[in-house]
Amino acid sequence: MTSRLSSTDMLAKLVSFDTTSRYSNLELIGFVQDYLNAHGIASDLVHDETGKKANLWATIGPAGDGGVVLSGHTDVVPVDGQPWDTDPFVLTEKDDGRLYGRGTCDMKAFSAVALHMLPEFIAAPLKAPIHLALSYDEEVGCIGVHGLVDHIRKIGVKPRLAIIGEPTMMRVVDAHKSIRSYSVAITGHEAHSSNVHKGVSAVMVAAELIGKIAEIGERLRLTGDDTARFDPPFSTMIANTIGGGTAQNILARDCRFTFEIRGLPQNDLDKAYEEFRAFALESVLPRIKAAAPTADIQIRRRAYSPPLKAAPGSDAESFVMALAERNAAEAVSYGTEAGIFQEAGIPAIVCGPGDIAQAHQPNEFLDKAQIPLCEAFMRRLIARLTA
Ligand SMILES: [Zn+2]
Repeated sequence: MTSRLSSTDMLAKLVSFDTTSRYSNLELIGFVQDYLNAHGIASDLVHDETGKKANLWATIGPAGDGGVVLSGHTDVVPVDGQPWDTDPFVLTEKDDGRLYGRGTCDMKAFSAVALHMLPEFIAAPLKAPIHLALSYDEEVGCIGVHGLVDHIRKIGVKPRLAIIGEPTMMRVVDAHKSIRSYSVAITGHEAHSSNVHKGVSAVMVAAELIGKIAEIGERLRLTGDDTARFDPPFSTMIANTIGGGTAQNILARDCRFTFEIRGLPQNDLDKAYEEFRAFALESVLPRIKAAAPTADIQIRRRAYSPPLKAAPGSDAESFVMALAERNAAEAVSYGTEAGIFQEAGIPAIVCGPGDIAQAHQPNEFLDKAQIPLCEAFMRRLIARLTA
């Protein structure tokens, strides 16, 4: 047996692995696997196709159905270009009561507390299992968790619910928006910019397509949120990156941009996308091809993560409200892996330490007071599963 690490020490350990999504997460996964092994807990790894990343699945307590999944993603967003006052990969406690470091809030703290609690989970006479589910590549479009959910299906386990420990300040979140993201590549045709009739400016085509995005986005805004639970209270459609052109006096050959749609669970956002697609490919594309046959528009879907749909009064919701000692559930606008568990038939609720306001920021931190709250949450989980 290894000596027991406090939740904070465990968090320091997890933060020390630079698991920015573009890197491998195997060192962190290896550390967790060794730690579990040292406590006699076996785990399954589900690798990506490159073998450089893995999800981890482990079960504590009796095998079988009706267990509770504690789910966390291992990856973090980049620190590039951010003005950090401390080393982002060294957990730094300051006398303001905060623990600084990349991933402290989003979202290594939940996983750290769960791992800290492991000896208590093992010692408890659990009547239903506790599953640990750690994923990769959440921050780049909830990619890894699909393999994890497939694994759960493959081994034939039917958990009662999954708790996704994204930062909610330990409040209970039962609904969030969906996220679709796309990239668009436009190929124009070069000409001297005085000869607009002899070419196609990819930049101008991009502007036209982004104008359409703004138009659809405005309509989504006016449609509003009939549940009045979301902030902002509407679905959003927005372009966030763009690049193209080589010189002021050349009609641009290339322009690329990305856009996203964040949708209220009750809205049909396929329609918003379809309107954009039809405009781009059925209205704009024939026109630019008539001007230059090699002109083109390519639209590629980058990622889709489904919404988390509220299930008021459900077993999962009341179970997690009891653990969190809350009497209401909230909706959030950011996406999580919860919708993917829900789509796979595993009821999911988001609840974890930290404030989303600090996520993805320089000097990301966790308020230390969140840790005992999360530990108490886990102890109530033990109590529920041993009762
Ligand atoms: Zn996160």
